[in-house]
Amino acid sequence: GGTIGILGGGQLGRMIAMAAAQLGYRCHVYEPGRDSVAAEVSAQFTCAPWTDEAALARFAENCDVVTWEFENVPVGPLAAIEHLLAPHPRALETAQDRLKEKCFVESLGGVPAAYAPVDTAEELADAVDRIGAPGILKTRRDGYDGKGQWRLRTARDADAIRLPDAPTVYEGFVEFACEFSVILVRGRDGEVRFWDSPENTHVGGILATSTLPASEMVVQQTPAARALAAQVAEALGYVGVLTLEFFATNEGPVFNEMAPRVHNSGHWTIEGAATSQFENHVRAVCGLPLGDTATTAARVVMTNIIGEDALTAHGCLGDGDAHLHLYGKRQARAGRKMGHVTRIAAR
Ligand code: ATP
Ligand code: MG
Ligand code: MG
Repeated sequence: GGTIGILGGGQLGRMIAMAAAQLGYRCHVYEPGRDSVAAEVSAQFTCAPWTDEAALARFAENCDVVTWEFENVPVGPLAAIEHLLAPHPRALETAQDRLKEKCFVESLGGVPAAYAPVDTAEELADAVDRIGAPGILKTRRDGYDGKGQWRLRTARDADAIRLPDAPTVYEGFVEFACEFSVILVRGRDGEVRFWDSPENTHVGGILATSTLPASEMVVQQTPAARALAAQVAEALGYVGVLTLEFFATNEGPVFNEMAPRVHNSGHWTIEGAATSQFENHVRAVCGLPLGDTATTAARVVMTNIIGEDALTAHGCLGDGDAHLHLYGKRQARAGRKMGHVTRIAAR
């Protein structure tokens, strides 16, 4: 037993807490927002700002280990509780800034899309000149589910863009055949295990589906992508579940971004793998032996339930192959992840 602190109170924290409960742990959620779907399934809840160092210290006093489910937790205040954190906060620091993240992954031999930092309209014009269009302008920090992104169809679109009040990076648009992710878990002893890489589709910048088996192209590009992901994990001294997103292209895997946490494209592992990403994250941060990551189904399709689709989600329960997960969010806003359904075909 013991208490696991979770920074962030969303659905990823909820599913970590549910896996932790099964292994006999209690969870203590720290989240600035009042409504927390993770706190609802946890023993304790601290509702305080990320920058409230006193609240953070009191929270940590009652935890044996602290992890996170939200990748934009400000890193500064975490210094005081670093000894309890898994993964190490250097993973957050790297992943919170798209520019830093790309440079870091490039230094390990990874290939991102062509990119350039952009802070002014002039720099945007130069970047579009050099890299070309189409492309995507992304805020360096705080983006998720495609938020903080502007697509340029032609170089002319650059003139119409009002730059945000924050640093950005311009990326060339990657002509990919499909997208996939590498999801791994690294233990405290450095052991690394991978789940099978799902093929992912996005709609409007939001993950829509994750499917296994993936296409032949993904299967062929997975070894190179895994080698890079393992190097990233090693270089960060990472402990827990780590995800890297890739584009499969004719030139090989192109790195998109990393998430230093459990990931939406790994939700299928709850029913589709011997050990889920959530359970293995708990095992890793608690220093327990890692579980088998093998896929146990012949075919798996995870579909996100977005916005008002949640209102009719129970409709799938008549299908014998459907496993429904609703996150308990009260407001079904457009574009909000409300739940997911995993369809499993037995071996
Ligand atoms: P999340 O963290 O929720 O995955 P995000 O806001 O960080 O999303 P990205 O992963 O950068 O967003 O982009 C979302 C999706 O937009 C990608 O999965 C891909 O489908 C598309 N996309 C992003 N960048 C590019 C690119 N350079 N070329 C082609 N497509 C892209
Ligand atoms: Mg992202
Ligand atoms: Mg992404």
